[in-house]
Amino acid sequence: MRLVAGVDIGGTNVRCALADETGKILVSEKERIRTGSEREIVRQISSMVVRACKRRGVCVAELAGVGIASTGPLDMRRGSLMKPTNIPLPEVRLVGPVEEELGIPVVLLNDCTAAVLGEARFGAGRGVEDLVYVGIGTGIGGGAIVDGNLLFGKDGNACEIGHVVVDPLGKMICGCGKRGHWEAYCSGKNIPAYARLRLEEMGAESKIAGMDAKGICAEARRGDRIARRIVAEVAEFNAIGLADVVNVYDPFLVTVGGSVALGDPDLVVEPAVRRMGRYLRNRRAKVKLTPLGGDAGLLGAVAAATDPSVIPKRFRRASRLLR
Ligand SMILES: [Zn+2]
Repeated sequence: MRLVAGVDIGGTNVRCALADETGKILVSEKERIRTGSEREIVRQISSMVVRACKRRGVCVAELAGVGIASTGPLDMRRGSLMKPTNIPLPEVRLVGPVEEELGIPVVLLNDCTAAVLGEARFGAGRGVEDLVYVGIGTGIGGGAIVDGNLLFGKDGNACEIGHVVVDPLGKMICGCGKRGHWEAYCSGKNIPAYARLRLEEMGAESKIAGMDAKGICAEARRGDRIARRIVAEVAEFNAIGLADVVNVYDPFLVTVGGSVALGDPDLVVEPAVRRMGRYLRNRRAKVKLTPLGGDAGLLGAVAAATDPSVIPKRFRRASRLLR
């Protein structure tokens, strides 16, 4: 059985794994992403793949390919990250340069697109034709399979669902600069800012003012009245976001992952699922946590490397070795 490498580029870390085509991860490692230059990032990814191969006792040339899942936005036609939020560079070309370093085919896809692919191949979505993955972590993103087709869009950024509007009054400004977006209220990065805004509005003082999302959830669980109220409001925004997803894509199943959702599902996801009916137009979808934990994106990268035909032809042209 041929092995592939899967790479997952997140907000802070890069993960690299070798896996077989059943999605079994054989070795994996994690490093803080280096952001100095394109060259540095390309070298980092390549050397992680080389090291993983050494640990497993295989040559890079024996791998069928490398799949890279990354936080967007991407330009898949160029095989690049475009103005990535986590890296202070206008463009980071990955497909061509990593292929030159390693000499094997490379495919690149949005990490949430990858996550829904991982779910479909190796997780709760096996055999499901209409499936959406929603990641509620540092940011919020999603991927969708509709009628069995993985959605990409013109540049590979279909389903940037973190940027649907959940608050028409737009009190919170999103990391993307626009107002009222789902991610601005419910992502791990923004829950603390939302909490501070609400404390100010309520004229209340609370120790949660300086806490991260995890800490605020812990206070809510301990019964702190204000924390419970804010967490309930966040869940309500999640209900709106999830209902939007069901109204737009009409999935049979929605799987939810991401560090915030997986860390406190009883506070973040379950109340949202109970409340989403208020916003639904379409027939209700099943919503459940991903069984793949934090590996959904990485496993999607593995799936794409194993079967590059899931990537539309116009995007496969970014690779010299797949043509
Ligand atoms: Zn936004």
